[in-house]
Amino acid sequence: MTEKLIFELSHEGRRGYALPKSDPPTSTPENSIPERFRRRTSLELPEVSENEVVRHFVRLSTMNYHIDKGFYPLGSCTMKYNPKVNEKAAAMEGFADVHPLQPAETVEGALELMHDLARMLANITGMTAASLQPAAGAQGELTGIMLIRKYHESKGHARSKILVPDSAHGTNPASVAISGYQAVSVKSNRNGTVDLEDLKNHLDQEVAGMMLTNPNTLGIFERDIIQICKMVHGVGGLMYMDGANLNAILGLTRPGDMGFDVVHINLHKTFSTPHGGGGPGSGPVAVVDRLKEFLPVPVIENEGGRFALKYDKPQSIGKVHSFFGNFGMHVRAYTYILSHGADGLKNNSVNAVINANYLLAKLRDRFELPYESTPMHEFVLSADIQKDRGVKALDIAKRLLDYGFHAPTIYFPLIVHEALMIEPTETEAKETLDAFADALLKIDEESRSAPEIPKSAPATTPVHRLDDAFAARNINVCYR
Ligand SMILES: *Cc1c(COP(=O)(O)O)cnc(C)c1O
Repeated sequence: MTEKLIFELSHEGRRGYALPKSDPPTSTPENSIPERFRRRTSLELPEVSENEVVRHFVRLSTMNYHIDKGFYPLGSCTMKYNPKVNEKAAAMEGFADVHPLQPAETVEGALELMHDLARMLANITGMTAASLQPAAGAQGELTGIMLIRKYHESKGHARSKILVPDSAHGTNPASVAISGYQAVSVKSNRNGTVDLEDLKNHLDQEVAGMMLTNPNTLGIFERDIIQICKMVHGVGGLMYMDGANLNAILGLTRPGDMGFDVVHINLHKTFSTPHGGGGPGSGPVAVVDRLKEFLPVPVIENEGGRFALKYDKPQSIGKVHSFFGNFGMHVRAYTYILSHGADGLKNNSVNAVINANYLLAKLRDRFELPYESTPMHEFVLSADIQKDRGVKALDIAKRLLDYGFHAPTIYFPLIVHEALMIEPTETEAKETLDAFADALLKIDEESRSAPEIPKSAPATTPVHRLDDAFAARNINVCYR
């Protein structure tokens, strides 16, 4: 299947629709824009009819893979199905048509929604307050580290290091570096959790804090979390939780109860706002009392039932996003939380964990499980056994596309060779999990009997195996 670029479909003079000429004089670039700001060459836009535009994009949408089309077990990304009721709420004109520059008293409903969502997120995470401003998990991390820095500065010494486990998501050390701290790697032990001896060796008065993901990127719950928090707090450091895996623990435990001081939440993961080409995201941060005064401005306050924006917060780190963050995502997450209720959210986490453990049970005899612990909502296999037969994790991922599934995350976390990171989420039925497990078992069989098939996969997709090394070195060429 081939699809031309929309520019290749263009024919001069072709139009979607045309309006009749207006009788009263209208403004034109010539009579309204000063000469020096006017473009000198005509704007290069494709000229196509309405049905050509519609068909072009519908054809593209069927070539693409997405959560509305099939199972998407992309580990770490929580690609759960996005309920359509969220979209319905976000499209209501009172939400969709408000402008961020409107006077606050004309959008009190929107302010109330953001105020209540922040309160619910603080409640779910066991924190005192939250800011909805950050646009994604990574920006939530950056905001959280800025809060930690501000806290230490208020005590007179910013400190210089942040500890990060070697299993962490790449955004963790990146956020630490951008905040001007040194990221210090802490080793994992044989169970895939933080090595307490190694942690002890890094603790001193220069530690501003530690970033930890719980359950971690192997899908394993850090059982020593109370102890770890005590150790880091013992040298005056703060505990940051990367909350990207919150979908495993909703209603079961809370970062605040474990001892964390700040956590980010990926609304586009745990709270079902669309992502993966469907964005934008949203990465609120929630904090304990001692960090509250440092949160970004404006803060929305409830003054006897009236909601107002407050900028007068002298200790605040300032703004981290224009206006109030990605409001459309706030509406979707709010709808998701209220439509499920506390019991529903808890059930989702329980089912996410059951689905992951069910899949693992079907696969563990044929794939290597590098860390033995019982996983939570996701698990990481290694394709080392298949690699010995010539079939790498990449080949398995590509072959899954032929079986009609999105591939799992591969080669992450870095501490696992040939990693296959699988996160089914709670929205998938048993039949889907069975079909996916069957496909992986078939690929394992192929790695014995016909390794050339996975090695040259995918064969049934619109575009076959890409030469990624060529693509990385020739960024102006789409594919060969
Ligand atoms: C997704 C993820 C992030 C980054 O979140 P974004 O919203 O993609 O910026 C950070 N840490 C972990 C463990 C993640 O899975």
